[in-house]
Amino acid sequence: SIFHINGSLVPAEQAVIPALDRGFLFGDGVYEVIAVIDGLLLEFERHAARLARSLAEVGIRNPLPRDTLLARCRELVLRNGLREGSVYVQVTRGTDSKRDFAFPADVEPTVMMYVSEKSLRVNPLAESGVRAASVPDMRWQRRDIKSVSLIAQVLAKQAAQASGAFEALMVDADGVVTEGASSSALLVDAQGRIVVRPLSREILPGCTRAAVLALAAKRGVAVEERKFTLDECRRASELVLTSALHFVLPVIDLDGQPVGTGRPGPVCRELRQLYMEYALASAL
Ligand code: PLP
Repeated sequence: SIFHINGSLVPAEQAVIPALDRGFLFGDGVYEVIAVIDGLLLEFERHAARLARSLAEVGIRNPLPRDTLLARCRELVLRNGLREGSVYVQVTRGTDSKRDFAFPADVEPTVMMYVSEKSLRVNPLAESGVRAASVPDMRWQRRDIKSVSLIAQVLAKQAAQASGAFEALMVDADGVVTEGASSSALLVDAQGRIVVRPLSREILPGCTRAAVLALAAKRGVAVEERKFTLDECRRASELVLTSALHFVLPVIDLDGQPVGTGRPGPVCRELRQLYMEYALASAL
């Protein structure tokens, strides 16, 4: 496959980053993952806006403003002949000979982009539902930044998958749910209301979540933005995960106990349907 490295298209074998890149040394960088269907980019505007925001929050100059990012993504999709899958975009602070923690004076951001093929529209997990396992949320205090420092999520997902679950549902010290290791979480209560944690520095502002909540509100589904506990998830009618590549997934089992009926629920099914229609119609 063909990668994009600092503005050049290069074959995978030549897609190399210097050993002293600050992304490698410190995890000093941010990223985005954008879904592709029929060669078009899903939810592009939200991803472009979030990338710009993440970069601004960590003080890295944005080398990929909206139009540049769109052109680069399209070029990469086209050159790789990608029909369905994803574009990965990573920007680090750059390569630094001194290994000072503080920012070096004049450093150019490193940009790395590549594509992966993956079936997105047809996803057996949407039909079967997935299992989730609760794990302590061990991340830092700026989880709203889509940082490449992902070791806490790596360990969370590993622990979940070791117990046979698909996703880790991360929980704060007080038993309050934050989000999935790589997904946003929401629940449907006994009254059919969606309950979702308000955005803050404690969770990533999920692009899929934002779209799904807007679609739900338009449909007249009540959306309650408040924190919710692991215990509420256990008693919920439905538990739902959202992410750029999985869209909307039903959780049917939490820590070995069935959620709701133990089968994918109707609200999740409808939200997935609505989201897919909207995302395909607005794809660039
Ligand atoms: N929360 C975390 C911690 C994530 O890593 C992700 C995506 O990977 C999400 C939520 C979902 O965000 P999005 O819908 O923008 O993919």
